[in-house]
Amino acid sequence: ELILAVETSCDETSVAVVRDGTEILANVVSSQIDTHKRYGGVVPEIASRKHVESVTLMLEEAVRAAGIRLSDLSAIAVTQGPGLVGALLVGVVAAKTLACALQIPLIGVHHIAGHIYANRLVHRLDYPLVALVVSGGHTELVHVPAPGVFRIIGQTRDDAAGEAYDKVARAMGLPYPGGPHVDRLALEADEAVPMPRAWLEPESYDFSFSGLKSAVLAAINQAKMRGDVLHPASLSKGFQDSVVDVLVEKAIRASKAYGAKQLLLAGGVAANKGLREALAARCEQEKLALLVPPLSLCTDNAAMIAAAAFLKWEAGELSELDLKAEPVLSLEEWSVKQPVDGT
Ligand code: ATP
Ligand code: MG
Ligand code: FE
Repeated sequence: ELILAVETSCDETSVAVVRDGTEILANVVSSQIDTHKRYGGVVPEIASRKHVESVTLMLEEAVRAAGIRLSDLSAIAVTQGPGLVGALLVGVVAAKTLACALQIPLIGVHHIAGHIYANRLVHRLDYPLVALVVSGGHTELVHVPAPGVFRIIGQTRDDAAGEAYDKVARAMGLPYPGGPHVDRLALEADEAVPMPRAWLEPESYDFSFSGLKSAVLAAINQAKMRGDVLHPASLSKGFQDSVVDVLVEKAIRASKAYGAKQLLLAGGVAANKGLREALAARCEQEKLALLVPPLSLCTDNAAMIAAAAFLKWEAGELSELDLKAEPVLSLEEWSVKQPVDGT
């Protein structure tokens, strides 16, 4: 079964063609990072306009790269939400138009389900599993008891991990998006500026990064007032060690509590080298299988949307042609109603 997927939730325009939710035939991505860089973050109006400019191009490119004809497709999938409403709308309209013209089903997909199922494009999944989702807008621990069933067991109470990375990087004068720069600096550092860790209540799987972010900003300001220069590498390492410690500890504890056969890492911050290394080391100690997508599947792309759409396709849960873009959308509610056996 060939599914063509469209992703336009934020600042990447992407179209993919995937066979049976696992085999990528094409996954083309046009990033707007260079456009948004000069504003220090994503400008929603510009994002929508750029999606309009590139979505048709990406569609043609994906179909050509996959070497298929449009008549070979079984369904059209699209990111329905969450995301920027104007940006989502561009993908939704493109997907509806295609589904309508080709007379094939439309499948609306939850963006975070996509991030989680990016793993299925490269690994066999074994349930129950726990997913640690760390992206620009989300930080969540998700229990996945069966294919396509999502139960959120912990989430951030303030900033998302990627958001904290980007804000801290900006305060240090690093370009947007700052995550990769802080990651690189942290790995170069010899020492770490001591930073607090937000463990919250002992039983809690929730996260909080705003206190840490404030501590980093305070350290920068105090150094300025003393006339010192804080070494950006030591500061990055202090910040990253704190983020990674808490993420790893809670993810391991959740995996044990829910009897997870695998721990999945997902989302843009899953590209973080410090996090990948620390998680790999702890999972080895704990004899827990860790699945991590390759870097190109961590950040936003349409192949992951096709992978998640396949769950709905198998369950026969298709969308209507009046599907709406949903800037706020619940992952739990998007779960498949009738899970189909499978890995
Ligand atoms: P969401 O998926 O929650 O809607 P998004 O789609 O904007 O948000 P992603 O594209 O999944 O987010 O991830 C982008 C985020 O990942 C940015 O905040 C970026 O700084 C961060 N990021 C990318 N690479 C790294 C890295 N190596 N270390 C830390 N953060 C990183
Ligand atoms: Mg992005
Ligand atoms: Fe994303």
